[in-house]
Amino acid sequence: MDGKAHFIMNRVIVLSIFCFSLVGCGADEPVYDVPLTFQPYVDRFIDMAAEYGHDIDFSDTGLTIRFRERVDLETGGVCRGDHLIEIEKVFWEDLSEFDKEGLIFHELGHCELFRGHRNDKLPNGEWASRMRGSPIPEGSNAVINYAGSRLAYYRQEFFNTALAAPDWVDRRAEYDDPAILNRIEVVSIQNQETFEESAIGISQGNFEIEVDMISGTSEGFVGIQFMGAANDDRIRVGFNRDGLFAIDSGNDVWGLMYLEEDFDKVLDGANKITIRRQGDFYYVFLNEEFIYWFDYKIPQRESVASLNAGTLGVPWYMSVKVYSI
Ligand SMILES: [Zn+2]
Repeated sequence: MDGKAHFIMNRVIVLSIFCFSLVGCGADEPVYDVPLTFQPYVDRFIDMAAEYGHDIDFSDTGLTIRFRERVDLETGGVCRGDHLIEIEKVFWEDLSEFDKEGLIFHELGHCELFRGHRNDKLPNGEWASRMRGSPIPEGSNAVINYAGSRLAYYRQEFFNTALAAPDWVDRRAEYDDPAILNRIEVVSIQNQETFEESAIGISQGNFEIEVDMISGTSEGFVGIQFMGAANDDRIRVGFNRDGLFAIDSGNDVWGLMYLEEDFDKVLDGANKITIRRQGDFYYVFLNEEFIYWFDYKIPQRESVASLNAGTLGVPWYMSVKVYSI
């Protein structure tokens, strides 16, 4: 008897004892086996379902959520049918609270709501559904900002696929907004390979960070990181030589929000990144063109610093300016 067979035999014996000792433990009795790690997200799914007119409690179907036994980074999770969900542990541990919810809701979308993947886009180019999934259409990537003021729409869409596009698809900003004409310079740095400025006194009001830079000798992902005291509460905006452009934040902020591969708006030479906080939102511009907005969150610490995620070479910052607006 090899190890695996032995293990299975033990399981059969244990299960048999368990069954014989319980009245009504038939083969069809639904099993509910959700560890505490996952339970809050299941509770929230039930609450959301109720809010949108679905009565779900899993008493009729059972539900099992478990970590996958072998590492397989192909997918973060999978619904195996019969209300059995497997989650990739390595993937899970790297997710923000929002993205953990998104993943569990997605798998419950398959297992409980019997939904397939939905891969159309909203009018502004963002995913129409957190049920987006493989096969991801050519030229797109799976990144979705399931957080902040986008969250309510995505949550509701699980239960109502006919939901109208949310108002926020029209949110954008103009680089030449008259509101920034009276901006006051707070920080000015020229011609550096690295920099770090903290306690710059900007977060009480509106502000703008504007950086003119090149990849320099860096082979990696370069740009700026701002706010926060550590990786988990910092926000990062940057690019690499291959046209990868990303807006990312730590798991204590919103997680990874925006990604473009082969982005034609990343220029070969100098690139200008502008981040403008106005009220409840950040607006990101690349080379004076509006790219993306996301929600403002009161930072752990005020800072603006260079970002060089590569191991070889350094970027070059021609100009770094921070303005109070
Ligand atoms: Zn899926």
